[in-house]
Amino acid sequence: MDDTKHMTEECGRRFEAAKQIALAAGVLKECEYHKGFFFKGDKELKNALIMANNYYSQGRSNYEFRDKKDMSDSIIEVVGKYSSEKCSSCGHSYEE
Ligand SMILES: [Zn+2]
Repeated sequence: MDDTKHMTEECGRRFEAAKQIALAAGVLKECEYHKGFFFKGDKELKNALIMANNYYSQGRSNYEFRDKKDMSDSIIEVVGKYSSEKCSSCGHSYEE
């Protein structure tokens, strides 16, 4: 399931930017032991969308998105891709 190599550079940057928002919102977590391994955080998807919309409204968006819908779609796609409950390498999961 390696579709990253088919992505254009623009798609890759959007994907990364969307991932950073999801991480900042707590919707995704990165394993503290394995860089690059992501799993679900304790926040719902909508938290990331709200945060992204706030950034956008404040003109703080230095992201790579074409518009708000593109931004939302990218976040939904990223969160959907990392829907695992735990790190696929060590089984670490989000804890309070
Ligand atoms: Zn891990």
